[in-house]
Amino acid sequence: MSRARPGTPDAGGDAPVQDLPGVGERRAATLATLGVRTVDDLLRHYPRRYEDRRHFPPLGELLDGECGMVRGAVVAASLRWLPGRRALVTARVRAADGVVAAMWFNQPYLARRLKEAGRVILWGRVERRGPALRILNPEWEAEAEDGRGVSAGGAGGAGDSVGVGDGALIGPSLHLGRIVPVYPATAGISQRMLRTLVWRALDLAPDGPDPLPDAVRAALDVAPAATARRDIHFPPDEAALLAARRRIAAEEAFMLRLGVALRRQRRAAMAALACPPASELTARVLAALPFRLTAAQQRAAAEVGRDMERSSPMLRLLQGDVGSGKTVVAALAAARAVEAGLQVAVMAPTTLLAEQHARTFRAILGPCGVKVFLLTGALERSCRRDALAACAGGEPAVVVGTHALIQEGVSFARLGLAVIDEQQRFGVGHCLQLEAKGPPPHVLIMTATPIPRTLALVAFGDVDVSTLDELPPGRRPPATVRLEAARRHEAYDALQREVSRGNQGYVVCPRIGGEDSGGGPAVMQVLAWLSRRYPGLRPAMVHGRLPAEEREAVVAAFRDGRLGVLVATTVVEVGVDVPEATVMIVEGAPGFGLSQLHQLRGRVGRSPRPATCFLIGDPEGELAAERLATLERTSDGFAVAEADLRLRGPGDPLGLRQHGLPDVHFPETLSDANLIAAADRAAAAVAAADPDLKSPKHARLRQAARRLNLDLLAPGPSRQVLG
Ligand code: ADP
Ligand code: MG
Repeated sequence: MSRARPGTPDAGGDAPVQDLPGVGERRAATLATLGVRTVDDLLRHYPRRYEDRRHFPPLGELLDGECGMVRGAVVAASLRWLPGRRALVTARVRAADGVVAAMWFNQPYLARRLKEAGRVILWGRVERRGPALRILNPEWEAEAEDGRGVSAGGAGGAGDSVGVGDGALIGPSLHLGRIVPVYPATAGISQRMLRTLVWRALDLAPDGPDPLPDAVRAALDVAPAATARRDIHFPPDEAALLAARRRIAAEEAFMLRLGVALRRQRRAAMAALACPPASELTARVLAALPFRLTAAQQRAAAEVGRDMERSSPMLRLLQGDVGSGKTVVAALAAARAVEAGLQVAVMAPTTLLAEQHARTFRAILGPCGVKVFLLTGALERSCRRDALAACAGGEPAVVVGTHALIQEGVSFARLGLAVIDEQQRFGVGHCLQLEAKGPPPHVLIMTATPIPRTLALVAFGDVDVSTLDELPPGRRPPATVRLEAARRHEAYDALQREVSRGNQGYVVCPRIGGEDSGGGPAVMQVLAWLSRRYPGLRPAMVHGRLPAEEREAVVAAFRDGRLGVLVATTVVEVGVDVPEATVMIVEGAPGFGLSQLHQLRGRVGRSPRPATCFLIGDPEGELAAERLATLERTSDGFAVAEADLRLRGPGDPLGLRQHGLPDVHFPETLSDANLIAAADRAAAAVAAADPDLKSPKHARLRQAARRLNLDLLAPGPSRQVLG
């Protein structure tokens, strides 16, 4: 274990949480469920909110049902056993202006400890019954000479042991008599424990280096990193808390904008193969389409075409709701590249979707003489060899496969265009690496989960965006209905009605079944239950553990109408396009992401027939219910994405790190226009003066950029499209 030495850069930061006293394997595992693995992660586990526990209001001002703090002498403490061997400890605490009854359950040893403490501070929910004042299961501490609390007790009881001697005093309280942080928590670890661990982490890594150069810090007018890091957890007062928050948000905004500036600069310096203006092939492809392009498709295709005529590589996001017709736009771009004598790689997130894309691209481009190869793991050796030889030989053609297959296994001699279908989120393509000899290809990324506008502007400012904001004629979005689990039969009755009318439906479950357990009904369970309860549905299942041929056969049977219901995991989210499907039932809906649910319901409503999506499950808490309600209210993918962003609480990062971007913890990072403008100016200045961050005064900044995985600074071979 690398225990950090003070004074070295990143002191303590990358040390595992196990380095902290009181963290063993079990607790480390619990922390990992919060995404906390290192001391640094813990320090970035920012409070969700704060409780002001600095004041002792007169007892008369404590409100029924609210939390409050009381200080006084323990005048009596007794233990009583309730039926079922439940211990009830009751204490009478005399404050300056009255008496409070405090009660604790299941901590029989408390009676003695309270008496020993003499004077205590209590924090908990207050109950008023006439003149009587009670406080139930409060956090408590012995009061020190100076009137502050000392961490001696706590509502959590034995499970809260922090590895110091039971009842030992560990200095001024972290929990009472101050502004107290409340963290995003999880089962198995208490707020007191989290607070204590954060305190220790601050001790272990007292003064991390400030990644912001002095000039940037001055320009942003923010506090030093070390101060902010401490004050965001344990602010001495409100002003310090605001300053800490501002500093962290400013740093996050600055890093995002710096990434944008550096990537833009790098890309502008790269030379791509410019395609000549569209000519005969494109016209033939357009003429052969069985439909007219929507205005939005025409606009997007023109934007893509203009980019491809330039000699700097395109990086364009094509976003549009499920069913908005992104594939045709991509196929037209592919025709442009092939016409220019270049190769096209089409990458899909799953094999099923790769197969679907190969079919679609063949249908659109095949009749015009464009070769389309499908590359999957299941392919026969000889077919695979032919496809790989075509790639290596530079034959102008379209090659479709999964992200992994193409990124790792295929070498293109003349790659002109990479089309990346990301479906769920935008990310892989953003840091794409391809085995391409020669100039970097143009990149077109398709996504059905739009990036919320606020996020797009700040974090992805180096990416151009085309939007399909119009569905092909004759579509109607499905009605969305939430049902608690106890009423799921209503959904299945509707499913049966639809199938008896010759329509079809899907049931999506969060898990497959068999050996795995927990988290809502499984595919296998539902299939068995449907077969028993609803004769005539002709159901079959499809999921990731089925062999590829079997999966393909089931999907083909469903497509042909020989099956009435497909019971599946989220594999149907992508790659199954059956206009006859009019019902989508999602089991365990609260467990899915909002955008994922939006994608799922996009599987139905692909024809003029009215369709319904049932979201089944019992959401826990208001936020979870509100999330599902959003889907009921709107069928607009943009609104869903914005709501998804908004309904994440503070301290709940957006997971930008998986896109090679720094995470965002505070909403102001994306919404405070002044802050963003200042960050942008500072970032532009740094990028212009020192594009590789080589100057000694940027050493720490360079290190931070590395650690954030921006991967901007590696010199990188030319095949690396984007760092
Ligand atoms: P997505 O944006 O979800 O990838 P697709 O490209 O799969 O959408 O298109 C969905 C369906 O709409 C396909 O069956 C496609 O043939 C059809 N489609 C696409 N564009 C049009 C159009 N302009 N008019 C009619 N149908 C269209
Ligand atoms: Mg699609």
